[in-house]
Amino acid sequence: AQFTELGLIPPLLARLTELEYLQPTPIQAQAIPSVLAGRDLIAGANTGSGKTATFALPLLQHIFLQQPTDKTLSSKSNKGNYVTGLILVPTRELAKQVADSIKSYAAHFNGAIKTVAVFGGVSVNTQMLALRGGTDILVATPGRLLDLISTNAIKLDLVSTLVLDEADRMLSLGFTEELSALLALLPKKKQILLFSATFPEQVKALTQELLNNPIEIQV
Ligand code: AMP
Repeated sequence: AQFTELGLIPPLLARLTELEYLQPTPIQAQAIPSVLAGRDLIAGANTGSGKTATFALPLLQHIFLQQPTDKTLSSKSNKGNYVTGLILVPTRELAKQVADSIKSYAAHFNGAIKTVAVFGGVSVNTQMLALRGGTDILVATPGRLLDLISTNAIKLDLVSTLVLDEADRMLSLGFTEELSALLALLPKKKQILLFSATFPEQVKALTQELLNNPIEIQV
């Protein structure tokens, strides 16, 4: 398959050409059309498979297309510290890396999509300021995200897509309780995309509990 056959819009296709992504990787070719159609996804995929673009491109496209075209009608101002797309990752390095990839893919959206990364080990103040007025795509480690929620720096009740990246590492790093606390704050109706290199019992249980009629892809 070609990127042009997956249903992606021109500002994203133009960026992929610039980045010299000549062809979708297998997971991208198999998953992107279904994710664009709103399906939940369970993907068995490692780093290097192209998993980041698999969730980032459809997420950017959904959010971009949902934005009001007339800026004067923008409803963002009454939504407080909203988040639309939430990506949970196990480590700060991955949080930074994923946010950088998303910003790069969004280059032709002319700043219309705000992406922020939050993670522990650094001062919370800069992150709180960055979140003010709302965030379209938030990449977060679970512990720091809960801290920011407890100070009202973030609200999760408008999240429409949840991505769990490296779910097995997230659970093995002991984020199980944080994850349950976060999931309880999310709206019931949302799209969920789960990526994991391995599927131990804990991850299987999580997918059973969370996902709704998902497509399953193993690469
Ligand atoms: P990931 O598996 O998401 O960590 O991506 C691994 C690397 O592959 C990253 O450096 C991406 O920029 C790159 N990449 C992802 N998709 C493609 C593609 N279709 N063509 C070429 N490079 C890609």
